[in-house]
Amino acid sequence: QSQGRVYNFNAGPSTLPLPVLQKVQEEFVNFKGMGMSVIEMSHRSAPFESILENAKALLKELLAIPDDYETLFIQGGASLQFTMIPMNFLQPGKTASYALTGQWAERAYVEAQLLGDVNYASCARKGSYSRVPAPDQLNYRASDEYLHITSNNTIYGTQWKEFPQTGNVPLIADMSSDILSQPLDISQFGLIYAGAQKNLGPSGVTVVIIRKDLLQQANSNIPSMLSYRTYAEHNSLFNTPPTFAVYMLGEVLQWVKDQGGAHEMAKRNEQKTALIYDAIDQSEGFFQGRAEPNSRSQMNITFNIEYEQTQKTFLLEAEQAGFIGIAGHRLAGGVRVSTYNAVSYEACQAFSQFMIDFRRKYHR
Ligand code: PLP
Repeated sequence: QSQGRVYNFNAGPSTLPLPVLQKVQEEFVNFKGMGMSVIEMSHRSAPFESILENAKALLKELLAIPDDYETLFIQGGASLQFTMIPMNFLQPGKTASYALTGQWAERAYVEAQLLGDVNYASCARKGSYSRVPAPDQLNYRASDEYLHITSNNTIYGTQWKEFPQTGNVPLIADMSSDILSQPLDISQFGLIYAGAQKNLGPSGVTVVIIRKDLLQQANSNIPSMLSYRTYAEHNSLFNTPPTFAVYMLGEVLQWVKDQGGAHEMAKRNEQKTALIYDAIDQSEGFFQGRAEPNSRSQMNITFNIEYEQTQKTFLLEAEQAGFIGIAGHRLAGGVRVSTYNAVSYEACQAFSQFMIDFRRKYHR
């Protein structure tokens, strides 16, 4: 690893591309000869507006966002979206459905319950969440205002491979932990949201991509800062946006573009995760994958080691070897390795080799 950097497998915020960090560092004190940092610049100035437009344009290009969608930058993390979605779209007397596939999906559901009438479209046994449902096995209603899913379940390491075809019911997806990890057909969705701090940049900015006709249907009698209309009508500049996070988002997107875009990310992610899933599958049960194989995530790999003591030793030795952030989420336990876009093939190769060596040493 160069620059004394560790192998960072944190689930979020997570590692960012080193060239991006270096460029941002270079530009930090005096941005493009302007004599000030981006962090000191007015959000109403022409240079900042061009930073914001650049980030929007890159997202549009990299995700092939159609013209009938609006891209918004909002603060409050993905968690605020759990509230904004029902506040904007759930009308009194109407319903919405939620696919409960993990902890974040549950959180979204709980927040929506505070605001309206919501139902489960699916629910794995609490705490197990080892797979996502088949898209045609979801139990939602044609009269629902929307169906909410979580495209990648960060804690349990499961990911939808195919999305439900919901016809007239808008499909809303929390893509916080897999946006831009692969090409996407945006037209399947009414709204997509993602906290930036995994694949897109630093925390502080949340990307919302919303179909314009849905935006037109949003409730208008709600507080300005919680209304999608406000962000759309003011180009995400109603109040001071998280300027530095938006700038860094643009830099990360430029890096993705330079690497070859979403297709290239998907190819690399598949190669990276195969190294670790293969180490699990070839371990004769020493490493026990948590997700069912056809629901396995390309972003968060979760597994257990049978004996608790051996698992503790694994986590300890991994950290000593420079692999950071691999303890499972406190709700799930075990091991979780997050392999977001900026995690290199080399890091995954080193970790997979570490797993193989560890098993040789401890497998009885
Ligand atoms: N949704 C998913 C899928 C997540 O992984 C996370 C955080 O890890 C969140 C929502 C919460 O995001 P935030 O901390 O931006 O509110």
